[in-house]
Amino acid sequence: MTSISRSIHLPLSACVRSSRPSVSPFIHRRFLGIPSAFLLDHYIPRYQLLSSVDAAKKRSHAYAHLRNCNLCPRRCGVNRYEETGVCLIGAETAKVNVIAPHRGEEPCIQGFHGSGSVFFSGCNLRCVFCQNHDIAHQRNGFDLTPDELADWYMKLQTEGNVHNINLITPEHVVPQVVLSILAARDMGLNVPIVYNTSSFDSLESLELLDGLVDIYLPDFKVWKSSTSKRLLKADDYTGTAMESIRAMYEQVGDLCFTSDGIAKKGVLLRHLVMPGKEDEGRDIMRWLADNVSKDLYVHIMEQYRPDAHVGKKKRRITEGSGADELRYAEINRAVRDKEVGTVRNAAVAAGLWRFCEANEKGMFHL
Ligand code: SF4
Repeated sequence: MTSISRSIHLPLSACVRSSRPSVSPFIHRRFLGIPSAFLLDHYIPRYQLLSSVDAAKKRSHAYAHLRNCNLCPRRCGVNRYEETGVCLIGAETAKVNVIAPHRGEEPCIQGFHGSGSVFFSGCNLRCVFCQNHDIAHQRNGFDLTPDELADWYMKLQTEGNVHNINLITPEHVVPQVVLSILAARDMGLNVPIVYNTSSFDSLESLELLDGLVDIYLPDFKVWKSSTSKRLLKADDYTGTAMESIRAMYEQVGDLCFTSDGIAKKGVLLRHLVMPGKEDEGRDIMRWLADNVSKDLYVHIMEQYRPDAHVGKKKRRITEGSGADELRYAEINRAVRDKEVGTVRNAAVAAGLWRFCEANEKGMFHL
């Protein structure tokens, strides 16, 4: 999940800029050293290439899923028109907290004008350290229909001049997202769709998204099931993430850019290094290199900070424990350079080489 900067955390009503930012022709023409295998001459979003028959099938599948929701590994099996499942979100609308051009993403995603970010409220995970817990856990926000969402995508494109529509924490509202993309395609949307996910997706859900999403931005959070159970409140996270990331890669492949250095298609994998869990990061990197692609574009993130439930005082103090005992004390600190270095070295040793970091020329490695 994207960590939203407080400085751009704007109310929905005030978020799209009214003036179009100027484009620098110098930057657009500059040679960025993109390997030819990952360089695109031009790009048409996948949803614009979908036939009207396939689009109609996707609409009908989206409605069917809402009537018997097994769209994420929670597999609630509820009719969301009548009741809600674990995610607490119904069928007619999606709850949205923030819509705004966002400059807190990777350089190839945020580009020059920002990424058109849509932060969905609610989540199907319950990460105790969630860096966006006020959005993900508290369900604050506005209820928007798929058509209203599509209107916002168009505003982001025409007034915000953004490089993409970036759907953040959308796993539990995939049918609404599918309907919104199909509505926006008929309105003339022509920027790539980014699906920004924790990877706690189901294969059914990813099949529904096939042909509509251009860039998958999955997290691979933790490796051990004991860790996912304790910190994400999900027993089966790792197996689900493996299956999901492989399915995403099969759809869109390695990350590719146009000559301006903006990502247009492919998978950008994120791993947030956690305090004391560098061994899990190492195992994740090895698995990615051996089972997805050695050309996978990877962002090893070091910005972990204690948040949400981490470091809060325990409600019940057990006998013999100190009065100031804190929850999840083992991750109640920033990550150390050495821990980040361990994961980075393991990634290189496994054969990965495309990292989201500055290169020797001070430019971002593409
Ligand atoms: S998307 Fe929501 S209702 Fe559907 S299976 Fe997941 S948690 Fe349950």
